[in-house]
Amino acid sequence: MPSNRQFAHRPLRSGMHESICLRCFRTVGAAGPVDSLSAQEAEHVCSTEDIVALHGRIEPQKATSPQQGEESA
Ligand SMILES: [Zn+2]
Repeated sequence: MPSNRQFAHRPLRSGMHESICLRCFRTVGAAGPVDSLSAQEAEHVCSTEDIVALHGRIEPQKATSPQQGEESA
């Protein structure tokens, strides 16, 4: 399964580009060149709570990450 399509890129009015995770729909980050988003995407870890909120359940095969490094808003 290709992993390149986990993130969607959206141009912003400021001329930057925003990366959105298609699994948890969180904004991963924003950068000028789209290429610069890859580093932020690589560090992104979906929050299990977000996945549950969106889908109502956790896919057992995906629930391999321990709950750590979560960003609380
Ligand atoms: Zn995510």
